[in-house]
Amino acid sequence: MIDLHCDTLLALHSHGCVEGLRRNSYSVDIERMHACGMKVQDFAIFVHFARTRDIGIDPWGYFHDVYSYYSDEMTKNSDLILPLRKFDDIQTSIDSGKVCSLLSLEEGGIVDGKMDRVDELFRLGVRLITLTWNFDNCIGHTTSDKREEAERGLTPFGFEMLAHMNEIGIIPDVSHLSDGGFWDVARHSKKPFCASHSNARAVTGHKRNLTDEMLRALAEKGGITGLNFCPSFLFDPTEEQLNTNTAPARIEDMVRHVRHIVDVAGINVMALGTDFNGIDGILEIEDCANLYRLFDALGKAGFTDDEIDLVREGNAMRFLKEAL
Ligand SMILES: [Zn+2]
Repeated sequence: MIDLHCDTLLALHSHGCVEGLRRNSYSVDIERMHACGMKVQDFAIFVHFARTRDIGIDPWGYFHDVYSYYSDEMTKNSDLILPLRKFDDIQTSIDSGKVCSLLSLEEGGIVDGKMDRVDELFRLGVRLITLTWNFDNCIGHTTSDKREEAERGLTPFGFEMLAHMNEIGIIPDVSHLSDGGFWDVARHSKKPFCASHSNARAVTGHKRNLTDEMLRALAEKGGITGLNFCPSFLFDPTEEQLNTNTAPARIEDMVRHVRHIVDVAGINVMALGTDFNGIDGILEIEDCANLYRLFDALGKAGFTDDEIDLVREGNAMRFLKEAL
């Protein structure tokens, strides 16, 4: 199994690093990864600009703070997990009975227009960058419900950074990026790119989801999108559900998104990007140990074993091979 996005690292760090990655009370830990057959788990370092300012630290420094926690955890648990620096590390980890960790940065804006920071991120082991989060940054514009805003794309630095990422081997991730930014990446990326945690906008009309045209363009480029378990991206919750944090992330809605995405863009584009510990609501699948329930449901919905294997890991494996 391969999961392209979780915020578990941040959950652990923001609660004072009391718990660790080996075993914890959140949705993903190394022991459960082993038990459920997770071969590669993306761990995102998510940087919220305003929040870092509130605690009196600059975003770049904050990244390094979380990174040093991550790095310590990798060292401490090196008997069970291997950080992914190149594609072959996945096979190495399998051969040595370990799981693999794909480190990503969510909020590329922390590079602050400085290309040497992109090189430093690579050196530290970051292999995927979610170009924007919910704000515009030095790379490009974020998603918007307003059409004019949504059409704005990458900045001149963003184009340069995309080319540089292609060159050194960091995967561009368009989740959270504006529609215009998506198309800029689709037209200019020399390697396959991904939407690590986004669903289908035709099924749930949320700006964070991808339109059918985007899904097809992603597929044509050899890219993938990771199915996100965030209730608001799976269906349209009521205000009441949102205010009381009771919007459900139902498996039947996940299956509807997978069905639609596969129908419009083909099976090869569909992967997993759970967003565990980065989402609110009542999750029918609350941790990685229960992901098998999604695959069972896909089977019952008529997907073949081969198709389910592609969603589980086959597509992400092919993608990582080409994109890294
Ligand atoms: Zn996100």
